[in-house]
Parts: sequence; structure tokens; C-alpha cells
Amino acid sequence: MNEHDSETMAGMMSEKGMIAEENRDDADIVIINTCSVRENADNRFFGTLGQLKKIKEKRPDFIACVCGCMMQQQHIIDEIKSKYPWVDLVFGTHNIHQFTELLDNVINERRKLVDVWESGGAIVEGLPTKRLYAFKALVNIMYGCNNFCTYCIVPYTRGRERSRRPEEIINEVKGLVATGAKEIVLLGQNVNSYGVSSHEGAYCAAEENGMDFADLIYTLNDMEGLERIRFMTSHPKDLSDKLIQAFADCDKLCNHIHLPVQSGSSEVLKRMNRKYTKEDYLLLIEKLRRAVPNMAITTDIIVGFPGETEEDFLETMDLIETVRYDSAFTFIYSIRKDTPAENFENQIPEDVKHERFNRLLKRINEISGEINKTYEDTVQQVLVEGPSKSGSDTYAGRTETSKLVNFDGSEELIGKIVSVRITEGKQFNLKGRQEI
Ligand code: SAH
Ligand code: SF4
Repeated sequence: MNEHDSETMAGMMSEKGMIAEENRDDADIVIINTCSVRENADNRFFGTLGQLKKIKEKRPDFIACVCGCMMQQQHIIDEIKSKYPWVDLVFGTHNIHQFTELLDNVINERRKLVDVWESGGAIVEGLPTKRLYAFKALVNIMYGCNNFCTYCIVPYTRGRERSRRPEEIINEVKGLVATGAKEIVLLGQNVNSYGVSSHEGAYCAAEENGMDFADLIYTLNDMEGLERIRFMTSHPKDLSDKLIQAFADCDKLCNHIHLPVQSGSSEVLKRMNRKYTKEDYLLLIEKLRRAVPNMAITTDIIVGFPGETEEDFLETMDLIETVRYDSAFTFIYSIRKDTPAENFENQIPEDVKHERFNRLLKRINEISGEINKTYEDTVQQVLVEGPSKSGSDTYAGRTETSKLVNFDGSEELIGKIVSVRITEGKQFNLKGRQEI
């Protein structure tokens, strides 16, 4: 979500005739777009801000802007005002559409500005974006979150759930396809509740006899020129049978789902306010695998939530053996200020959290490697993204199941979907050779 906000701000700056600098030290304006989901993101922000101070000291005309989720918290704004008073512009997640106006004020009136809105108003359509890749685009279908998982700060920094109108989304995707996009990723904190909540100026399928999330997928699946549809993220409590059926019916919907489980212990899930049990979750996995047998499944897991016992943790270890995730983002629980779990008893000591985290990660990685091995000697359709990190003539792309493939390629393949025979399934990626 933040990445896409950055694309929007880059688009707004491009429209004003500004160009991106390779090196931060050479830029006239720097914007730090922050995330506050976990504590280490907060820490990195203050570290980066310290580096910007040095540029500001050398070049007083240099403009430092900070925005994003962290700014939606008063204690952060207070800290910036007291410890980093040289920051020129502070704004939040709800007024990104005003970014260039705010910037003009700072530049023309040579003043510092803090403008953070407490909540989001009507959805602003038609903002420009500067995409990282021409052939792959992020598309917001909704904003905010109503779920209030007890560890999570997102409902406080992104506000209540608001869905965009289907016609706006469809038109945006048409425009993206017309300018070269082959793959789109539909974004929302919980895409399964697209069109469900009614909110000022937002779209509500139930009230308007319109489209729910699965309907939106079916419609996009018919769009000529579009080749791949993905979405992120899907909350297990709202994953409908209709959406599972869409996986079976829609050839463009990639056979990969990111379905964050957070914990394998029903007891912990209850305290997290996730509203499903381990058994509910496993039933969903069974249904998904029945609908699409080779579906790749990935997840998010939090280790060391307050009160997590060794038995609870073993439930998570058991769950990963049953599901066998293709990969997982694993997080050590970090306290987020003003969330309910901040005040829960039995916060887990750091050493216990780390020991469990390492045990979990080791097994997750082993399973990833085992699954990747099964890809050997198969032919995969790979959307080529660019030169691989390993350099030389190696190019990297993703399979429909979202696995990273490195293969010997050439520049003209970037943005194309090519057939690649997998020669080696490694722990974190696949190696292959193009099939001509
Ligand atoms: N809306 C998405 C998740 C957004 S946050 C969903 O519900 O799936 C991305 C991930 O960060 C979460 O899935 C969770 O695993 C992790 N996370 C959120 N808050 C956290 C915290 N306080 N400590 C550790 N991990 C956290
Ligand atoms: Fe956070 Fe839960 Fe909302 Fe995801 S669904 S953003 S984890 S509150």
C-alpha cells in the first residue's frame, strides 16, 4: 500500500516537471514515506531522518518531507517537532492528493508545514502514478481496514474501510493495459470485504446491487490484453466460496493466494481478534486445494504474541506442516502504541521470541526448498521483470505461482511472458532455461 502511495507521489511530481535523482544526496527534495506496521520500520525511519539532517546542514535550501502511516500518530509528530524541527513538510495517509500543493506552499512561502488529517474523506480518483514496472501495476481497490486485529496499527493509520467504485477500477485497469500492463495486483487490507461496508462517498455493492470482490475478478478476467490478476491481502474470515470458485473459473487469476494465518493456535487467534480458528483456516486450505490442486499458498505469521505458550507455538509449527506453505513472511511480535495488545499481560521475553522465530523460519525455509524441488524439469510461464540480482546475462521473473526464476535471457524479454524449463529448485528461488 505504501509502495503504491509512493508511485502516486512520484507521478504527481513528474507532472510538475520534477525528475528523480539516482542519489539521495543530489536531490533538492526528499520524501520519506513511512510504514508503521512493525517497530523496526519506525526505527529505520528515525535513522534515515538523521542522515537527511546532514544534507540539510550542508544545503539549507534542501527540502525534507515525511509522510505515511507513522505521521498518523500524534506521538510521532510530536517527536519530529521536538527533535527534528528542520523537517519542512509533514503530511499523512489521507491527504496524499494534496501533496504537490503542500509542497508548493513550502517552497513558495519558505515555511514549515504540518498537515495531517485524522480520517479519510471521499476517495480521490484520477491521481497520476509513476509505475516501477510498465508491465506490472498495483491497483488500489479499497482503502482502510475495519478489522482491528489487536496487534495491528493499520486501522488507526489508514482509517475505516472505503471501496472504490467498480467502474473507476475497471477504467484504471483498462488504461494500465493500454500502456503495457500485463499483470495487475489488486490491493486492499482485506480485499474479500470489497464493496461491503458503507461509508461516506464509498461504494457499497449490497446497497447498489453491484459487484463484490469475486464479481470484480470475473469482470477483469474478461478484459482483453490483461494476462495476470493477483490480489493482496485476503482475510481468512471473509474468504468466500464464490472467490474460491473464481480461482477455478478465471484463467487470468494466478494460482497463488497469500492468506495470512498469523498463528496456528485458536486460543492466540481469539486474542488477536482474527475471528477464525485453526480448524476454520485448514478447511479453507482444503477447499482452495480442491478447487485448484497446484495452488501456491503463502502466509504471514507472528511469533511471540502476548501470552503465546510453547504449546501455542507448537500449534503453529503443526499448522505449517499441514499446509506446507510455498513461503511465509514471519514476524516477531512488536508492540504498537495504542493497540489493545499493547496492554495484554504476559508479553513474551525477547530471547523466547527469537528462539521460536528461528525454529519456525528454519522449517518454513526447508519446506519452501522441498516444494521448489518439485518444480524441477517442469516448464513454467514466467513474466520477465529485469536483470537478476546475480548479474551477468541472468534475468529474473515470476511464475504464475509467484516464484522467482533466474534464467539466461536477454533485455528484449523484459515485460514478456516466456516459457522456462526449471533446472534447479532452490530454497528461495528457481533456476531455469528458456524453452524456445
Ligand atoms: N491486512 C493484512 C496485513 C497488513 S500488515 C492482513 O490482514 O493480512 C502485514 C503483516 O504484518 C500482518 O499480516 C502481520 O503478520 C504483521 N504485523 C502486523 N502488526 C504486527 C505487529 N504488531 N508485530 C508483528 N507483526 C505485525
Ligand atoms: Fe491489520 Fe488485521 Fe486490518 Fe490486516 S486485517 S490490516 S492485520 S487490522
